[in-house]
Formats: sequence, structure tokens, C-alpha cells
Amino acid sequence: MLKILVFLIGMNADRITEKLNILADAAKYDVSCASSGSKRKNENKGLGNASNGICHTYTEDGRCVSLLKILLTNHCIFDCAYCVSRKSNDIKRAAFTVQEVVDLTINFYRRNYIEGLFLSSGIFYNADYTMERLVRIAKKLRTEHKFNGYIHLKSIPGASDELMREAGLYADRLSVNLEMPTEEGLKLLAPDKNRQDMIQPMNFLKKEIIQRTEEKALFKKAPQFAPAGQSTQVIIGATPENDQQILYTANHFYKNFNLKRVYYSGYVPVLSDSRLPALNTSVPMVRENRLYQADWLMRFYGFHVSEIVDQHNPHLDLDIDPKLGWALRNLQAFPIDINKADLQLILRVPGIGVQSAQKIVSARMFGKLNWEQLKKIGIAVNRAKYFITCNSNSFERRDLTGTAIKQYILSQSQSKYIKAATTQLNLF
Ligand code: SF4
Repeated sequence: MLKILVFLIGMNADRITEKLNILADAAKYDVSCASSGSKRKNENKGLGNASNGICHTYTEDGRCVSLLKILLTNHCIFDCAYCVSRKSNDIKRAAFTVQEVVDLTINFYRRNYIEGLFLSSGIFYNADYTMERLVRIAKKLRTEHKFNGYIHLKSIPGASDELMREAGLYADRLSVNLEMPTEEGLKLLAPDKNRQDMIQPMNFLKKEIIQRTEEKALFKKAPQFAPAGQSTQVIIGATPENDQQILYTANHFYKNFNLKRVYYSGYVPVLSDSRLPALNTSVPMVRENRLYQADWLMRFYGFHVSEIVDQHNPHLDLDIDPKLGWALRNLQAFPIDINKADLQLILRVPGIGVQSAQKIVSARMFGKLNWEQLKKIGIAVNRAKYFITCNSNSFERRDLTGTAIKQYILSQSQSKYIKAATTQLNLF
């Protein structure tokens, strides 16, 4: 299909197809490509519209496929042990020209294959040399082709502030990958890199985003700067950090760098190296799922990271979601009266999501709620019933231990939890 397409768009089919195969394949290990959060509008009769029509499609293993997701090149001067593009890996190498990426993006977009571009790169020559090309692609798309689709650019650590600033003028989102959850992990697997090289551009982007947002509030015509903010990716399972260390790292970067998202990417063992896990030991997808759920609890449910994981429970329970895990460890806080409790408390009840909690608070102004009404609101009664009371007494078992409740819930919800163990939850 790609071959036909590049033939149609008048490019050198064989050469471009080969590059596409190599550089799209190399890009699939980066999961930080959800396109939510941008409000770029088509105001110049240009092409595309990042605020509408962007759907997030995920392959079976949970990777995003809605964007043209490629590397500019898989040549790299670095030798990070976990990366297929590392310089010592004996693989086919390729590099797109700036114009080739621009042409591919425009032609794929016109044919409705993509909603935007996710562009990363190995580092050839140096950070500025690489970043300058990434910026040039985004600039050409925006200024020459009036492209209003979504653009996510990787920021290359070590690139100059000027290039980072220019990147923010054309990209919707910028991201700097943290790679390993801890500095020790990074030293082990990527000794040529250091955490400070990642923190510096994150800090720069944070300040620039704040400043440009303030300017935009004052002057409507001030240019946008990375309107979908910045994100990062952490590889899990390549180094031995536990979930507690991973979540504390995520929490730190959310708080201090105003990140929109932290993406958790289970390490895919494709390289043999004594510093890495064995080739047949991939990270179970359910571990990624639980980390995303915990991340959700920190950002939308008012949980502090220390409530989700602690020194006694440094790993998330893979059998149940982290909110249920917290509730079972804190049974003394329950049951709560759903007709009286604060929104913040209702949000802590397993089986009740943010929207349902808000609906409950609104609906109870018109009368006390019972199980039937709660079901209609959309709460998962099979989980919530152990933790709440309402205006009916059809379920009044209050003598159960945490272990017993967990067993009941697992046996009643078996299909859901088994499914969760094999496919990624849709959390985007
Ligand atoms: S710098 Fe990036 S592309 Fe190069 S080896 Fe390291 S992770 Fe891979």
C-alpha cells in the first residue's frame, strides 16, 4: 500500500518505501504520541485542523497509530543499551530529507491516512544539527503548506534554546524523553547521557510555555507556543526500578515541569546485553496499564503518590486497579454515604469515575439516590457496593475483610480483569 502511495505522489517509490519501512519501524518504540490537548484551528484556509477529527487509534499492543509516526533518521552517535537505533547495533540505517518528510506528511494527510505527524530522530552529528532539521520540517508544513494538523516533535536534549523556541512556534507538542525512571538507571544503560541534559530543555519549555500563554492572554495575536504542552516518556522494565520509584519520578516531573503527560513504555527486549533483561522477558502489558491508572489517580482523583504506593507496597497489584487497592487497604474510611459525602470522597470509591461522581453530586440535589439510580448514572455497582451506602438497603454486608472483598470482586468481574491483563486500557 505504501509503495502505491509513494508512486502516486511522484516520489522515488522504492527508496522512500524502504526508508519508511525502516524509520516507521524504529519509531514504534516511542509511545508518547497521543494528540489530545491541542486547540490549533484552521483559520488560514490551510490544510487540516488539529482540534477536530483527531482520533487516537491504538494497535493491539497499545501503540498509537493515528499519526504518521517516523524517525527522521535512525543513525545515532549515541549507544543507549535499550535502543534499537544505538550506534553499535548492526541494523539497516536510513535518513529522510526534510522535503521527503514534508511531502509524505502532506500526501498522507490529504488521503486521510493520518491526522498529524509524530517526528522523532536519532542524533546525527550533534543535537543542533538534528533539531534544526526537525524544526525545518515543522516550519515548512506550517508556513509553506498551511498545515494545521497535529505536530508532535521530539526535542533533542542539548539543542540550543533558539531552536527549541522555534520548535514551539510550529509544533503542537514537544517532548523530551526521560528514558529511565532514575538517574542510576540512565547511567547504567546510557552512560553518555545525563539527567541534566533532559531537565534543562524541560525547564526551558516550561518557562517558555508559561510566558507565551500569558502573552497570548494579553495579546490575542501573539503566536501560539506548543499549545498541547510538553510530555515525556519513561521506559519501564529495562532497569529494576519498582512502581513506587517510577510514580515518584512521574509525580516530580508533573509538579515541577508542568508536563501534560508522562507515558510509560514497557521495555521491549530486542537487544542482547548483560545490562538488560533477557530477551524472552517482556514487561507484561498489565503493568503499563496499572501505571497509567495510578497516573490518572494522581492527576484527576486527588490521590497523592504515597497513597498509591509505599515502602510496604512498592509495586502496584496487577490483579486489581490501584484505586481498589487503596480502598482495600483503607477499609476504615468506608462505607461512605453517597447522599452526603463530599465529591473528593466519592471520587475515592472504586467503581465511580470522575463523570459519575459529578453526576451523583448534581442528581442528589433532587432527592436521595438508590442503587437503581446509581446504576443508571453509570457507576460499577459490583465494586462500589462494598464501599458505600445509599437510599436502599439491598446490600448490607459490612463484615467482609479486604481479602474477601477482593476475591468477591475478582470472581464477579473475572472477564473484565482477565481482559485488562492482556490488552491496554483506553485511557487516552
Ligand atoms: S540517543 Fe536516542 S536514538 Fe540515539 S541511541 Fe539513545 S535513545 Fe536511541
